[in-house]
Amino acid sequence: MTDLYRILPEEMDEIVVKLGQPKYRAGQLLRALYHESPRKMSDLHQIPSAMRDALIAAGYTIGSEEEVSRVVSEDNHTTKLLLKFDEQTLIETVLMQYSPSQDKTHPRSTVCVSTQVGCPMGCVFCATGQMGFEKNLKAEEIVSQVLHFARILRKRGEHVTNLVFMGMGEPLANYDETVRAIRLLTHPRAFGLGQRSITISTVGVIPAIDRLADEDLQVKLAISLHAPNDELRKRLVPTAGPHSVEDLISAAKCYFKKTGRRVTFEYALIDGINDSTKIASELARILKGNGAHVNLIPMNPTAGGFSRPARKKVLAFQQILRNGDVNCTVRVEKGSEISAACGQLRTDMVKNIR
Ligand code: SAH
Ligand code: SF4
Repeated sequence: MTDLYRILPEEMDEIVVKLGQPKYRAGQLLRALYHESPRKMSDLHQIPSAMRDALIAAGYTIGSEEEVSRVVSEDNHTTKLLLKFDEQTLIETVLMQYSPSQDKTHPRSTVCVSTQVGCPMGCVFCATGQMGFEKNLKAEEIVSQVLHFARILRKRGEHVTNLVFMGMGEPLANYDETVRAIRLLTHPRAFGLGQRSITISTVGVIPAIDRLADEDLQVKLAISLHAPNDELRKRLVPTAGPHSVEDLISAAKCYFKKTGRRVTFEYALIDGINDSTKIASELARILKGNGAHVNLIPMNPTAGGFSRPARKKVLAFQQILRNGDVNCTVRVEKGSEISAACGQLRTDMVKNIR
């Protein structure tokens, strides 16, 4: 069985011809898949039934996700879904909406996708890391998360405008499927989202960052740094092992040189752990002159016992970086009251209560 949502347009051209159909049917099929996002083959009304039958006979299917639950935040801006692909594949995915700016009629609608069930990296402050690693998602399962929200938005006359790989899992530890999903979601003959509207967030798998820089992609990269030195970083990211802070900064520079896209450093700010003024000065020192951008994420509560610093401390940390000539913003967090914010996604507990 092969899901049509993993087939790249060039591959679709070949499949259609192999099935004895005229080549233009590939375009029709792709348009139907990505503009109408049907749930099953029989919903592909634009395609002649003989071709639908041929696709089914050749083992092709369409999507397989089932929405198990939906939680919407009180302000209506954040929606968290629990999606099930099969018994072993349950993941959370989130939609964040921002009010339209004056010149735009549609709100910015950012989908935050998962790339793995659980995560092998084990960051001590992250709920996904604490559930361990179960499996990699396939490209079609990543694409289906976006299409699921696209269907919901279409009913309201809206559409997906941005995509962040900041859900469950480490996207660069599932490199091939993540890149395939990005190609499908950005291909003008498939979903057609702008490459520049996509951000991949990584804990810092350096060989994969280098590989990504060599793809013909214009996606934004965010590296989760969390500490200015290796000793502290290894306490927070136990798998940081071979990748030193210095190497991560070099990899970011290299990415910028090759792609022209500046890298953002994400920094989860944890009370009493990595938020002192001394650490802020050290961070400013190592990032100065890099053109680096730091995005502070005040820690979202998880079961790990860590907590978020007081607002005053967050602003003081930001100010030290700014005084050190490092561009720094504080992330406007969405969805923490429905456990949909950074680092709060986990599905093992959900499985246990079902
Ligand atoms: N694995 C990737 C992407 C998913 S995590 C990565 O680590 O970058 C997305 C972001 O959420 C990362 O910057 C991560 O450090 C951050 N994060 C994880 N747990 C968090 C928590 N409890 N509070 C705030 N941010 C958290
Ligand atoms: Fe994995 Fe990212 Fe969570 Fe670390 S922060 S455990 S890399 S999902």
